[in-house]
Amino acid sequence: MDFQPVLEEIVASLRPQLGLEGQVASYIPALARVSPLQLGIALRTCDGQEAHAGDSLTPFSIQSLSKLFSLTLGMREMGEAIWERIGREPSGNPFNSLVQLESEQGIPRNPFINAGALAVTDRLVTLFDAKAQMLALLSSLCGETVHFDEEVAASEASTGFRNAALANFMKSFGRIDNDVSEVLDAYFHHCSVSMNCLQLARAAGFLCRDGAHPFAGEPLLSERQTRRINSLMLTCGTYDAAGEFAFRIGLPCKSGVGGGIVAVVPDKLTMCVWSPALEASGNSLLGMKALEMFTARTGLSIF
Ligand code: GLU
Repeated sequence: MDFQPVLEEIVASLRPQLGLEGQVASYIPALARVSPLQLGIALRTCDGQEAHAGDSLTPFSIQSLSKLFSLTLGMREMGEAIWERIGREPSGNPFNSLVQLESEQGIPRNPFINAGALAVTDRLVTLFDAKAQMLALLSSLCGETVHFDEEVAASEASTGFRNAALANFMKSFGRIDNDVSEVLDAYFHHCSVSMNCLQLARAAGFLCRDGAHPFAGEPLLSERQTRRINSLMLTCGTYDAAGEFAFRIGLPCKSGVGGGIVAVVPDKLTMCVWSPALEASGNSLLGMKALEMFTARTGLSIF
């Protein structure tokens, strides 16, 4: 199938809606300055075919998309042990909520809410230089050198009171081994990585190839581990809108408040859409519409 005309048509039909609805994330000052009038889409098939349209080469803040890759590092390094301090259930609460952590003794519901990603990051900080390893993984997966946006990282650090609260709370339950400040610094930097849609579509490629590196082909994760990441994306990857995503789109997806969404069609392709204005749950509004149009036009779905 030639995907290029499909992506171009989606961008052309959604462009008139740019700026009409949704809000860019404002709780991180550096993100509040991003223009909402942008829309990009890119995909890479398992056999290396690529297509992209719109603002697909414009870098943006990956934010929670980094949670996919920190979990990948954690699963690769620790195997099953990664699940000792993190659950696998949808939280039913906002991504930065504190309430559940109290009643559940500091064990986050899943690795895609902030508390869960902080717990994963803590394990990574114990194992190695978590910041350097994240950049190395992402650069290797997309075949280009990627960087932190230090301004975004600093902006998050200066306003990340909830993340600090979550990490301190877990520390009080004995669930964080390292200095809270070190864990937060790594987490904020992971969220601050700047990448474009095409780079992310490539970087997520192992998720549609049973864990094989998108370019090198060597196994990054096992088939079983990869399937588990995809199921977590489906149930927990899109804040409180997982049901809506399954209903409208029918693919495992992970969102970030920078407006990016990574989606996987197992055994076929990975894609990334980006448009900074978010709907109420924190997912990219036009990104969701673009994915819905893509699955409607191509018939691709896991259901
Ligand atoms: N850095 C953001 C935070 O910790 C990530 C949120 C997101 O993209 O879901 O609040």
